[in-house]
Amino acid sequence: MEKLDLFLEGRTKRLYRTDNENFLILEFKDNATAFDGQKKGKIEGKGAINNQISSHLFKYLESHHVATHFDRSVSPTEMLVKKVEIIPIEVVVRNVVSGRMVTLYGWKEGEELKCPVVEYYLKDNSLSDPMINESHVMAFELAEAEEVKALNRIARKVNVILRPFFDRRELLLVDFKLEFGRHKNYLLVADEISPDTCRIWDKKSKKKLDRDRFRKDMGGVKDAYQEVLTRIVGAESSQSVIT
Ligand code: UDP
Repeated sequence: MEKLDLFLEGRTKRLYRTDNENFLILEFKDNATAFDGQKKGKIEGKGAINNQISSHLFKYLESHHVATHFDRSVSPTEMLVKKVEIIPIEVVVRNVVSGRMVTLYGWKEGEELKCPVVEYYLKDNSLSDPMINESHVMAFELAEAEEVKALNRIARKVNVILRPFFDRRELLLVDFKLEFGRHKNYLLVADEISPDTCRIWDKKSKKKLDRDRFRKDMGGVKDAYQEVLTRIVGAESSQSVIT
């Protein structure tokens, strides 16, 4: 498929048109951002790592019958994706208290939740992505009632699939954010799933291996992302030796 002109550019990714109107090329940049883009940086090699992690996770989800926009990797920093109409809702799933759960409710970071918590945020940077609930979604016609049910069901299913996947790699999936898109009457998991959009801790030491290292100036961002990639890929190759 031929890569054509730039279609959209965000803080950490670019989307290019292709010669097939149903597909786009998603390029991961090395840019790092936090706090609604107020904090900016560049981490050499992050784009390539996130492309590989996202590609692996999308393929893994597809193998468990979760439809995603991923088609295939096309370069170290790029994947071919189905073109979708993005639903302007960010769906967050949490297993362990962190981030906004601490600042909003005063709960203790690291506390395991009795059951997963699913939250919705309006995807609007100018409003700092405010939290919304299902009735906001309906009242503002952000999605159909059936779609909201599906978002919730798919987000929980992704958690059920990914949490043990990370656990087998001695990683704790603390929380993650998903975006969804409409493609020919289907709902697809879109955007990316990477340490930029998930909180991932080492299971034993609880060392943060995600964007919090950048947010909190902890250093070692690239090494942490690389560690996540190595554990994902490494575990797969050792599994294939066993089977
Ligand atoms: N998240 C994200 N993009 C956003 C907001 C949150 O990818 O615009 C991810 C974030 O990295 C974390 C999860 O969603 O894995 C929950 O984030 P939280 O609501 O705690 O907000 P934050 O601490 O990022 O402000």
